[in-house]
Amino acid sequence: MTSTEQDRWSRVKGRLRAEIGEDVFSSWFARMDLEGLEQGTVRLSVPTRFLKSWIQSHYAEKLLSCWQSEENEVNRIEVTVRSAVLKSTVKPKEIANVNGHSLRLNGVNGHSPAGDSSAHEQLGGSPLDPRLCFDTFVVGRSNTLAHAAAKQVAAAKRSDPVMFNPLYIHSGVGLGKTHLLQAITWAGNGIGERKVLYLTAEKFMYGFVQSLRAQNTLAFKEALRGIGVLVIDDLQFLQGKSTQAEFCHTLNALIDAGRQVVIASDRPPSDLESLDERVRSRLAGGLVVEIGSLGEELRYEILKARVTSARAHHPGFDVPQPVLSYISKAVTHNGRDLEGALNRLLAHSKLTGQAITLEMAEREVRDLIRPQEPKRVKIEDIQRIVARQYNVSRSDLLSSRRTANVVRPRQVAMYLAKTLTLRSLPEIGRRFGGRDHTTVLHAVRKIEGLVGNDMALAEEIEILKRQLQE
Ligand code: ADP
Ligand code: MG
Repeated sequence: MTSTEQDRWSRVKGRLRAEIGEDVFSSWFARMDLEGLEQGTVRLSVPTRFLKSWIQSHYAEKLLSCWQSEENEVNRIEVTVRSAVLKSTVKPKEIANVNGHSLRLNGVNGHSPAGDSSAHEQLGGSPLDPRLCFDTFVVGRSNTLAHAAAKQVAAAKRSDPVMFNPLYIHSGVGLGKTHLLQAITWAGNGIGERKVLYLTAEKFMYGFVQSLRAQNTLAFKEALRGIGVLVIDDLQFLQGKSTQAEFCHTLNALIDAGRQVVIASDRPPSDLESLDERVRSRLAGGLVVEIGSLGEELRYEILKARVTSARAHHPGFDVPQPVLSYISKAVTHNGRDLEGALNRLLAHSKLTGQAITLEMAEREVRDLIRPQEPKRVKIEDIQRIVARQYNVSRSDLLSSRRTANVVRPRQVAMYLAKTLTLRSLPEIGRRFGGRDHTTVLHAVRKIEGLVGNDMALAEEIEILKRQLQE
C-alpha cells in the first residue's frame, strides 16, 4: 500500500471523526485498517465480525461519503474481518475493566454446581444462584419441552450447528425460567467449551450504558464477541430506545455469527410491545417454548426434592408425606410460594424444635394459599348440560317418567348436583320435580357405585364436570 493511500485514509478518518464525534469514532473505527484501494473499491478490515456487521449496518453510508469527498471515484466499501486478530481472544483483564466492579459477579457463595464460575465472572455476568442447576430442576409435563431445549443448548459444542436460535422461554412468574437459564450457564461454564454469559435485561442495559459512559463501547462489544452463549433473563424489562437498538444489534450479530442466544420473558415475543416489529420477529424465529403452570404432581416432586436438599444442611428436618401432599395441593401458584412454604416449615422446626404436623403446616402456610373462588355451578346448568349430553329434554329429567333412557341421565344430574353444589339432598329433590331426599340419595349412591367399574360412565361424568366448571 502506498503512503498516499495511507494519507488519504488518515484524512477520511479525520472527516469521520469530525462528523460522528470522538467517542463514537473511537468505539467503532479506532481499529479499522485500510487494506487497499482498487478500481473504486476501498477494502477495510476490522478485528471482529461483530464490528463488521455493526459498521456495515450503521455507518456504511457515512463511510462511503467520507471516502467520496476525499476520492470521488470510490463507489464501494468492503469491510472484512482480519483473521489474525480473530484467533486471539479478548484478554480477561480487558473485559473486567470494561464492565467495572459493579458489573462483576457479587460472589457465589458455596460451591458452584458445575465448578467454575470465573469465566462468567470475568464477563461481568449477573449473579448466579448455585442451587439453580439442572440437577435440582424437576421435570414434569408443563416444562418437558423447555427443559429438553435448555439441556440441548447446554450440551452443544462450539462446532455443533445451532439448532434453534434464539431459544425463547416464556411463562408466568415462578415457573422455572430463571432456574433453567442459570442451569444452562452453570453447565456451559463448567464444561468450558463455550463461554456462557447470563445477564438480566437490566444488567444488559446497565452494562451498555456504563460502557458508553466509559467510552468503551468497543470493548463491551468485544466482550460480547468473546462469548458462545448469551443468556438474557426477564427481557420484558428491557427499556429505552437506544438500549433496544443495541439489543437488536447484539442479537442479530450473535445469531449471524452462529452464537447461541437464550432468552426468558414473562410473555411471548409478539406481546413485547415496546420492541419493534423486526426484533419481535427475530425473537419468534427460533424456538419459542412456554412453561405451563406447575401441576399438583410436579409441585409435590419439587417439594420433595427441596426437602431432601434442605436435609443436607438440617439433618433433623423432616416433612411427613401428608404435609407434602397438603402443601402441594394448597399452594398452587408457583415455585416461589412453594419455596416460601417450605422455608417457613424449616424456620418453625428450627426455632421450636417441634416436629412438623399437618396442623402446624396449615397454620404456617395459610397466607400463601390464594383461594381460587370455585365456579358456582347452578342446578339449572347441570340439568341443561346433562339433558343435552343424553339427548333428552330438561322436562324429561324433572318428570316422573321411569324409562331407562331418562332414569340414568336423571341420576347423573342428581349426582352432579350433590357433588358440584352445596345444596342439600332435600333441596336437590325439590329442584328435580319435587322428589324425596331418599330418592336423591339413592341416585347419588347408584352413580358412585357405577363409576368405580364403568370406565365409560366415569369418563362421561368427568367431561360433564369439566363443562360445568369451565
Ligand atoms: P421464574 O424465573 O420463571 O419466575 P424461577 O426460575 O425463579 O421462576 O423459579 C422460582 C422458584 O421455583 C425457584 O426457587 C425455582 O428453583 C423453583 N422451581 C420452579 N420450577 C422448578 C422445577 N421444575 N424444579 C425445581 N424447582 C423449580
Ligand atoms: Mg425469573
